[in-house]
Amino acid sequence: MSLLEVKHLKVHFPVKRGLLNRARLHVKAVDDVSFVIEPGETLGLVGESGCGKTTLGRALVKLVEPTAGNILFDGKDIANSHGKKLLATRRGLQMIFQDPVGSLNPRMTVEQIIGEALDIHRLAANRDDCRARVRELLKAVGLNEAYAQRYPHEFSGGQRQRIGIARALAVEPKLIVCDEPVSALDVSVQAQVVNLLQDLQQQRGLAYLFIAHDLAVVKHISQRVMVMYLGKIVELGATNAVVDQPKHPYTQALISAVPVVDPDSKRQRIVLVGDVPSPMNPPSGCPFHTRCPIAVARCKTEIPPLREIIPGHLAACHLAK
Ligand code: SF4
Repeated sequence: MSLLEVKHLKVHFPVKRGLLNRARLHVKAVDDVSFVIEPGETLGLVGESGCGKTTLGRALVKLVEPTAGNILFDGKDIANSHGKKLLATRRGLQMIFQDPVGSLNPRMTVEQIIGEALDIHRLAANRDDCRARVRELLKAVGLNEAYAQRYPHEFSGGQRQRIGIARALAVEPKLIVCDEPVSALDVSVQAQVVNLLQDLQQQRGLAYLFIAHDLAVVKHISQRVMVMYLGKIVELGATNAVVDQPKHPYTQALISAVPVVDPDSKRQRIVLVGDVPSPMNPPSGCPFHTRCPIAVARCKTEIPPLREIIPGHLAACHLAK
């Protein structure tokens, strides 16, 4: 059994329009998405901003309510559970955020922030036990235990992200959704946080869904990668296969934009024309057809299914082979 199994997940947001706010449209932020994550695995998730990747991550931890579909975590359906049942399952599934400043309560000390997570799930026997666990967690993420009484504003961006990681680890999760955890940090600090996540994964057998717009970071940390465009998965496969031999024209364009170190590289940059269409009114047929450099007539009318092109490598393109 996979650790996480997402089946036909949809997150559609209603948008009110018109004088009386009557006409209702829907933003299809996540539109019929299915995938699995195995124990101890890192699955990367990439795509341009607005493609739905953050909404997908938030739906997995129920920060946004799914419209349809199933999220089976350890065999239990999170999408359709609430209250105590949800709390018990959610303990194994945590999230760290892009903005370490906004995600930490500025009026709470580090001990209170991490201790709160222990309290919610009743994981500390008493106050002393809670203090001891907070100090252990700070050590685990490379922070001085003496920092426990400090407030978030007394730390650098990288240190605040480490506090967010310690808070997520407090409840001993099996899977952490990492939503662009390094994109707000200085380049010099990014590698330290990525290395910390990898060390913690090895020590604790954690699985990650690692969300990023930067394919270079995802390539470094993920065993498999999936690519999203306008709320849909357009490619999914082993990281090396997707990066070296992308099957979908959108992935090919994303990869062509990653700078290469090799001066002899023959790689040509594929520049996509036009903007990403509105997810309120996505194009008919293949959602990528308005920007695809190789689109053919059927792309305007037929939705390409996500299909296995070679074993373990899937793409949603009529022409992929
Ligand atoms: Fe391009 Fe057509 Fe493939 Fe869509 S289905 S990616 S428009 S070739």
